[in-house]
Amino acid sequence: MNNTAPELPSICNRPVAECKDCTINEELFCTLSWKDSLKFGIGFVVLITGMIWGIIHAYNELKISKFAEIAIILGYFIFLFGFLQLWENRILCSHCPYYGREEESVLHCYANFGLRKLYKYHPEPMSKSEQIQFLIGVGVIMGYPIVFLAVFKEYLFLTITIAGDLLWLIILLTQTCPRCPNFSCPLNRVPKKTITAYLRKNDRMREAWLKAGWKMEE
Ligand code: SF4
Ligand code: SF4
Repeated sequence: MNNTAPELPSICNRPVAECKDCTINEELFCTLSWKDSLKFGIGFVVLITGMIWGIIHAYNELKISKFAEIAIILGYFIFLFGFLQLWENRILCSHCPYYGREEESVLHCYANFGLRKLYKYHPEPMSKSEQIQFLIGVGVIMGYPIVFLAVFKEYLFLTITIAGDLLWLIILLTQTCPRCPNFSCPLNRVPKKTITAYLRKNDRMREAWLKAGWKMEE
């Protein structure tokens, strides 16, 4: 099975035909691959499963009412969607080269595929305030289920959820963040020399980054 998506414009200023032979393609997620998306999402699926199962179990054990069961699960998904589509879309994604592909109105990246681009593209790096807001949002997504499962003493599901959180973090920090082209994200771990090599191929972003104080390595 071919795990690459249909051909889209490149995420730099070069024609997409150049991506095949570009060494940066191996180092960054320049070409969308479903395998990368699956890897990115697997820990999150474990976390969500642990939470939903645990809250349903708490209801079945008569620890919470039906209303509380629905409110806790629905509240989580409302926050999650609101964060990804409204808040993160501005503070994180609007700085990403995927957002800079302005012929598209939706994102075609490995992580937020299908979400609408609601704001204008910001080629400059994220500000400190945006970085802090992003970490707060991710903290809520990871911590919200833990709080409820701990309060209701659902220890088995709490363990599953914490394992999902840890798995997600480990995959992010070892597999995803070292290859993500959104370099100013506080979790990003792409080496400086790869960032510089990429910026040489993206005029608009390079100009904005140089203005923000980035130093190109020789
Ligand atoms: S840097 Fe540009 S040309 Fe190279 S792989 Fe990425 S998008 Fe393609
Ligand atoms: S790669 Fe990450 S930062 Fe870039 S658009 Fe997708 S989710 Fe947002």
